[in-house]
Amino acid sequence: MPRTRLAPSPTGALHLGNARTFLITWALARQNGWNIVLRIEDLDGPRVKKDAAAEAIEDLQWLGLDWDEGPIYQRYDLAPYQDALRKLASAGLAYPCECTRQQIQAATLSAPHGDEHELRYPGTCRPRRSDNSLKFNLTDADFSQAWRLVVPDGAIRICDQFCGQREFDVQQAIGDFLIWTKQGLPSYQLAVVVDDARQGIDQVVRGDDLLSSASRQQILYDRLELGAYPAYTHLPLVVGLDGRRLAKRHGDSRISKYRQMGVSATRVLGLLARWSGVANVTEISADEFRTQFRLSNLSSERATFNHEDEHWLMDRSKR
Ligand code: GLU
Repeated sequence: MPRTRLAPSPTGALHLGNARTFLITWALARQNGWNIVLRIEDLDGPRVKKDAAAEAIEDLQWLGLDWDEGPIYQRYDLAPYQDALRKLASAGLAYPCECTRQQIQAATLSAPHGDEHELRYPGTCRPRRSDNSLKFNLTDADFSQAWRLVVPDGAIRICDQFCGQREFDVQQAIGDFLIWTKQGLPSYQLAVVVDDARQGIDQVVRGDDLLSSASRQQILYDRLELGAYPAYTHLPLVVGLDGRRLAKRHGDSRISKYRQMGVSATRVLGLLARWSGVANVTEISADEFRTQFRLSNLSSERATFNHEDEHWLMDRSKR
């Protein structure tokens, strides 16, 4: 049976934007008979907030979403990620890196880079010796340093079910990216690939802020010899009035806020449904959304959360 996952990061609360992504993922799964794994992506060390995972689970349940397996917490067992790093390092496909962000910044000052959040790594620590000396046999101490993947040159093609075919030149835009941090934890890119593969995820549905990450993840699938890539469906994000991804700066759009203010789940879902191309709805349940939602009706434009939406949600006369 095909499988997908809901993968909230407990680095912040579930808000209207990521709730819509989870709602669509859930609806696609239930329409198509995919199993759903709930995975809590809690590896982002300092940014993980206490109680955020429990709250995200409550929010998802309050919206009427369910899953077949989990919650599975990534932090609970690091061994599968360590094994993956071991495999890459011993095959000469990864190397330790001591560069600080400042050093990378200084080295790339004049070089172009594609991703605004990520500096292109110029390859400072990449070993330049013969192939054999690139191979590392890891000891425990090696897990407390940063590691980067040797990224091949050339474009990587993504065949996305929603966005179509896209190409990313990872080496040119990002360079050898981090797969392990000096905090002793796998990077998001490594962890997500290890988990998607071992949890049998063959349908990845998520926000299109991660579209370019799919190319990094495909490289890792190949390097770790994990077989076929999952099918990718990257959905347009919900943005604020300034066109930027919905976040705290746009005001409080946390699901838990509406929940605590007595707004009904069907009302919140009604807004998410209108943003998802479901016509003529005011309020709707998750089950009704599942039957009415069509991926082909989802606009490729980003939905915008505006003041009227907030007023409509908070309208006391309708509660
Ligand atoms: N945990 C990520 C997020 O909340 C999702 C990662 C993924 O779906 O690959 O944005």
